[in-house]
This record gives sequence, C-alpha cells and structure tokens, in this order.
Amino acid sequence: MDDNHAEIAQQLCKGCRLCIEFCPRQCLGLGSEINNLGYQYARFVNPQCTACGFCYYICPEPGAVKVFKADAHASAGA
Ligand code: SF4
Ligand code: SF4
Repeated sequence: MDDNHAEIAQQLCKGCRLCIEFCPRQCLGLGSEINNLGYQYARFVNPQCTACGFCYYICPEPGAVKVFKADAHASAGA
C-alpha cells in the first residue's frame, strides 16, 4: 500500500481501543475476529490517514502499530 496508512499486528493487539479513540480521521476500528491472545484486534479501515502517528504513540503494546507515510519509505514503527 503506497498511501499513508497504519498497520496493526493482529497477534500483538490487545483490543484496548486507544488507537481507535485517538485517531483524528477515524481510520481504525475493531474487527469481530479474535486473535491468538483472545482479543478482538484493531484494523485499518479508512484510507483518510494522514500518517500523524497518534496511533503508534498511544498504543501500549510494543510493535503492534506501524505507520507509513506515502512520500517516504521510513515508518514511525519500524
Ligand atoms: S497515523 Fe494518525 S490518521 Fe493514520 S491511522 Fe494513525 S492516528 Fe489515524
Ligand atoms: S492501541 Fe494498540 S493494543 Fe490498543 S487496540 Fe490499538 S493496536 Fe490494539
């Protein structure tokens, strides 16, 4: 995906919803599937992402969120 976007590592997410609540563009949502830890995990659901990084910084689970900018190969989570 070349546009601004966030990727959620579904097996690391604990479904706390912080990233969903803090995203200013409503880009993230909770799916209905359950991961190996037993949590519903967050998903990237809306392409209006600005790559602001809020979701990355607010997530308490190391490595669960990566943010990618459209015009750069660097990412906040890598
Ligand atoms: S980088 Fe910003 S706009 Fe994009 S999903 Fe995360 S919080 Fe939302
Ligand atoms: S903040 Fe992190 S742990 Fe919480 S729902 Fe989002 S990705 Fe999952």
